[in-house]
Amino acid sequence: MNKAVWRWLALVMVVSSGIAAVVTYYAVKSNIQGVIEQRSMRVQQGISKRLETFDALLQQNEKVLDTHIKTVLPQIAQQLIEQKGTLNEWTTTALGQLATQYNVDEIYIIDNTTTVFASSFKADLGFELGTVSAGMRQFLQGLLLSKTDAVVVGRVNVSINSGLLNKYAYYSPAGSDYIFEVSVALKPYLEDKFSAEYVKFIFGELFTGIIGEQLLLKSVDLFLVNDLQVFPFVGDVKPIPRSDLPSIPLSGSVKRYQDEYIEYFSRVKLNGALFENDAYFLAIRMRFDNTVGNTLILNLLQSNVIILVLSLVFIYGAIRFVIIKKIVRRVTAVNDALAKISTGDYSSVCETSGDDGIADISKHVNNMRQRLSKRDSQLKHAYDTLESKVLQRTESLHTEVLKRKQAEQELSVLATTDALTKLPNRRLVDQYVERAIISSQRSDESFAVLFLDVDDFKYVNDSMGHNIGDALLKTIAFRISNAIRSSDVAGRFGGDEFVVLLQNLKGRPELVAQHVQTIVEQILSSIREPLLLDGHDFHCTLSVGVALSDEYSTVEVLYKQADTAMYRAKELGKNNFCFYDDGMQQAADERVLIEESMRKALKDNEFSLSYQAQLNEASQLIGAEALIRWQQDDGVFQTSETFIPIAEELGFIVEMGDWVLTEVCLQLLEWQKQGLDIPHISINISTKQLQQMNFVEHVSRVVKSHSLQTSSICFEIREAATLGLNEGTIKVVRCLREAGFHVSIDDFGTSYSSFDYFKSLPIDQLKIDKCYVQGIGGSHRDTTIVDLIISITKHLGVNVIAEGVETRQQFEYLKKQGCQQFQGFYFSKPLESDEFCEYIKGLAELSDD
Ligand code: C2E
Ligand code: MG
Ligand code: MG
Repeated sequence: MNKAVWRWLALVMVVSSGIAAVVTYYAVKSNIQGVIEQRSMRVQQGISKRLETFDALLQQNEKVLDTHIKTVLPQIAQQLIEQKGTLNEWTTTALGQLATQYNVDEIYIIDNTTTVFASSFKADLGFELGTVSAGMRQFLQGLLLSKTDAVVVGRVNVSINSGLLNKYAYYSPAGSDYIFEVSVALKPYLEDKFSAEYVKFIFGELFTGIIGEQLLLKSVDLFLVNDLQVFPFVGDVKPIPRSDLPSIPLSGSVKRYQDEYIEYFSRVKLNGALFENDAYFLAIRMRFDNTVGNTLILNLLQSNVIILVLSLVFIYGAIRFVIIKKIVRRVTAVNDALAKISTGDYSSVCETSGDDGIADISKHVNNMRQRLSKRDSQLKHAYDTLESKVLQRTESLHTEVLKRKQAEQELSVLATTDALTKLPNRRLVDQYVERAIISSQRSDESFAVLFLDVDDFKYVNDSMGHNIGDALLKTIAFRISNAIRSSDVAGRFGGDEFVVLLQNLKGRPELVAQHVQTIVEQILSSIREPLLLDGHDFHCTLSVGVALSDEYSTVEVLYKQADTAMYRAKELGKNNFCFYDDGMQQAADERVLIEESMRKALKDNEFSLSYQAQLNEASQLIGAEALIRWQQDDGVFQTSETFIPIAEELGFIVEMGDWVLTEVCLQLLEWQKQGLDIPHISINISTKQLQQMNFVEHVSRVVKSHSLQTSSICFEIREAATLGLNEGTIKVVRCLREAGFHVSIDDFGTSYSSFDYFKSLPIDQLKIDKCYVQGIGGSHRDTTIVDLIISITKHLGVNVIAEGVETRQQFEYLKKQGCQQFQGFYFSKPLESDEFCEYIKGLAELSDD
């Protein structure tokens, strides 16, 4: 059973026992009160009866006693007056002897103030009798005044010490101011008259019997009471203060409770005259022991508690017996089964006999056991399946992770390696350079960064196709790697740009530069070696920019310096190398400025065109070449060699080319209006323009929109640019021709153009580069090339024009060799449109002449 039920049961029993105890307490207590009341009545009655008997006894013997006193008292008075000179001389001892002589108990001599001035009883000396009561005083004073020689036998009194009754008599002889008092003890008197047994009973055992009979009665006392004092009279008494004595009515009794006992005070009313005066009365005090009643109740309570405890023990034992037998055993069985079930053991089956709650629980537990057992096996099955699935999944995940790792590794290689050449890419080279910077800062070693750009690679790529271009790049990468030490690094930045990091260079800067130069020359010479591409021998060159590290080097600065130096190498004619110096940087900065201002120039009309005449053998005008000029708003001229390559590089050349074409068209219209006949204007175009979508349609539209014939325009394509002519651009050139435009190959002879190549190109004209023309007469090689070009044009069946003709000698020689068209300072410099206009007018006049 649960603890709370036990607690409640015990509480109910304790409370009910407590209530029973309280009820019993009050019942017993009120019962005891009743008993005490009854007993008190009976005791009082008993006492009164005995005292009445005693009173009667006294009255019966009074006369005998009075006679004795009346006889002896005048004799004693005579002795007192006669034996001494004055009454004052009587001592207590002398009075005592006199009392014994006359068989009285005490002798007093009282003066007229009622004060005892001589006594056989020393303690009463000086006692003023008037204080006893007003009646006593009156009696004594009356006695003094009457002087009758009469003996008055009066009251009975009690002795405080002995508790004996005395009878008093007074005598005031005539002519005397004194009263003589004599008392006779009743006890010895009575002992003479009655048996000693009876006297003993009266004075000693008056109440003993009564007390002994009563269980609750503690004591019975008899008092003689006057206004002043309470005199214990008989019984086992102690004096009690007057104030403690309650007012006792003449009949009935006064009850008074103390803590331990109950006191009953009552006044005794006797028939005799012994106490018949106002000064004294007899009172009875009975004391009943209250604690006895309480003790009884306590005992009752104690026994009640013992009974309670015993009954609790009994009930507990009985319940326990029943519970253990009937409930606990079965509940334990269910609990054991549940404990087993909780650990997954379903072997225990609960006993389900009976028709109570435990039987129900047992049934439920059995059901639960069955269901859990079933669920467990299902779970186990599910777990096994899951386990095998997890295993499978883990394996596949493992494989996946491996694949992913492999892919990541490949990615990381890809991320740092150039896919085509397998050289480190920019990212990785950056890291190498960073490390080189750090290690050079920690040592006295330095390093160099080389930027290598394949010269005219674009033309190879465009004309021979990307596969060939890729093969070329791979070969270049291979050759560069072979030309450097294993401790150095070669990388590719994309396109035709390569980079080389030469590390651990020791010694003075001149020595380092020398060492680097040696390696660069090795690289350049290894690249120059002919290589077989698409079944043909191919010559390739590099332009190399070199930046040497110093204490302030950063990756960005080094790259910028190497790049600038590389551009410089290109400017110097390619197939070359250049070390970076500060002047280059200035040039590079200027280049940037040009880039910025070029776009602005187009908007602000800073560009203009000059026209250079093209003539035949008879110095007649056959056309003119439009050459762009740029005068900035500050008046400074930018040379076309400076800004044209930059414009090409930026793609700005397309926009600029459009402007040139429109400008030329407008100029032609203007000249037509002026009646000038200019057969055609040659316009230089870049490959970038040729590669524009619908280039032919575009230029045709522009020309036609100015109501001009397409044949009035000749497009000059630089020979170097023709290297970039692939199937696509050849098609564009063909279309230009079909659209009516003329096409000329400019700067012919400056590149490694193959003769076969030009055979397939539908052109009108070849233009001998001015560098060969200027070598005529001076350089055998140049003269031979000029001859060769003229002969080629004959084979190809195209016109040939020589540019840069500056002397008559050159003119004559060219004419002699069969060149029919000429352009150069010998005839005219490029002129502004107005000047050119004047010039051709002059020419016309000349020919007219
Ligand atoms: P280019 O097409 O070969 O032009 C001929 C260049 O030789 C011109 O230089 C011209 O002034 C110069 N020249 C002509 N006769 C003589 C001579 O007797 N002696 C010398 N020493 N030089 C002579 P310019 O005008 O500085 O042009 C340089 C190059 O810039 C041109 O070479 C052409 O390739 C390019 N260019 C000029 N204008 C344009 C243009 O509008 N568009 C494009 N795409 N390129 C242009
Ligand atoms: Mg030209
Ligand atoms: Mg030229």
